[in-house]
Amino acid sequence: MSRFLAKKYKMLDAYVPGEQPRDKKYIKLNTNEFPYPPAPDVIAAVNADVISDLRLYSDPTAKALKEALAKYYGVGAENVFVSNGSDESLNFAFACFFEDGVAFADLTYGFYSVFADLYGIDAKIIPLDKDFSIVPDDYIGLDRGAVIANPNAPTGKALPLSDIERIVASNPDRVIVVDEAYVDFGGESAIPLTKKYDNLLVCMTYSKSRGMAGARLGFAIGNADLIADLELMKYSTNPYNLDSLALRMGAAALTDASKAYYEEKVGEVIRVREETAKKLEVLGAEVLPSKANFLFVKLPNIAGGVAYQKLRERGILVRHFSKARIADYLRVSIGTADDMKAFINAVKQIIEV
Ligand SMILES: *Cc1c(COP(=O)(O)O)cnc(C)c1O
Repeated sequence: MSRFLAKKYKMLDAYVPGEQPRDKKYIKLNTNEFPYPPAPDVIAAVNADVISDLRLYSDPTAKALKEALAKYYGVGAENVFVSNGSDESLNFAFACFFEDGVAFADLTYGFYSVFADLYGIDAKIIPLDKDFSIVPDDYIGLDRGAVIANPNAPTGKALPLSDIERIVASNPDRVIVVDEAYVDFGGESAIPLTKKYDNLLVCMTYSKSRGMAGARLGFAIGNADLIADLELMKYSTNPYNLDSLALRMGAAALTDASKAYYEEKVGEVIRVREETAKKLEVLGAEVLPSKANFLFVKLPNIAGGVAYQKLRERGILVRHFSKARIADYLRVSIGTADDMKAFINAVKQIIEV
């Protein structure tokens, strides 16, 4: 830190991304990436001509991508905001909507508390219950906005849409952000509710279920006035927030052929998830019921930190969080069937005493 850094930033405790090690080849089950490449249409969308066009600025209105997303999700283009990863949509949402504070779970996506600190927003931390579930009643009639990851991370547990609607309806003068990064793996999307409630913003990403984490593509869907506020933030910081390759690939991921491709691959991830959960349970592990592309797991007779390290030594990377309540759990992304076979074999080795 230099002596020139603005005082207000000196205490910032930045988000720590999962490792992306380059030292050796790991089976990477630590950052919830998709185990398959993007759809063939996405790959075909980029060629030498498109790359030559990089000399021009990208379309700041992202018209084609917004229209494609609007069609795909059955909303209007004015209801869609596109962003550099969904982290950017979340960033702008915190900047715009949580002046009076924000509520979120004690165990949820780590970036929420970072954004709250960045903007000096008062955060009300609401503990999950003993089964690691969000208690919807805790979010009824709040004195502030809220952000809810549904399905939640790192637990993988999902709330039914009826609970999300109850929360949104009970806070008509507060913005409720629902972060649906994992919704394609078994959750229920709140997008249809954005037509009924002007205080609901749904954030989504191409990073988890479309195999495009490196393209940095996210979007938010909501009432046109909420979207206009996010645009205000964008045009006040970075009007060309998506590069022209990402804009093209984003639209190509929504064609009928891409849709069919992703449905098949997502189905495979779900199948492998359920199979892996069963095998872990047979080994005596505690496994939370997951609607995401990862499992939250407590292995028998081994501390979480030790299990993390021993798996790493065996070439398998998972995510371990040191927070006391979950220090004995691992978050394990679902890879290919072969990846998970290797994971289960390694687990067998490390829990044998
Ligand atoms: C991965 C993730 C994000 C961020 O996704 P990007 O689009 O890659 O920025 C947001 N929210 C949750 C809950 C996530 O797990």
